[in-house]
Amino acid sequence: MPRRKKTFLCGHQGYGQICHRCDQTRTQREKADHARAEKKQKKQEWEAAFAQDPIDLRDLPDHVVVKARSIIAGLMTNTNYRDFGGKRLRHNRFIISIPVTRNYRMLCRDCGSFLVPEEVLSHEEYNVCKPGG
Ligand SMILES: [Zn+2]
Repeated sequence: MPRRKKTFLCGHQGYGQICHRCDQTRTQREKADHARAEKKQKKQEWEAAFAQDPIDLRDLPDHVVVKARSIIAGLMTNTNYRDFGGKRLRHNRFIISIPVTRNYRMLCRDCGSFLVPEEVLSHEEYNVCKPGG
């Protein structure tokens, strides 16, 4: 017996128990919903992570945040600031400036045996503030 097309309740025609056109639409919608939910969760996780940072990184571009966190993590595990290209300020030897990206630097206070991150400044802010001066 050749299979015959039937008309589903939705009005589409096709073979089998369910309408494959509607099923496909539903699957695509579910995928889109899933992707949206995942994106939302990622965004929430990203925002929640700022509360864990020892300094405020909220206003910085994403790639600067990521780089700054890796430097902070490095300093907390006793990586020498010189390994990140950090230098002491000439006019304040207790402040260490570490390049984060080409346009951002992190200022840390030398507390003897460890460094405390104080802030991340853009190149412009850095030049205006003359930090530690
Ligand atoms: Zn259908």
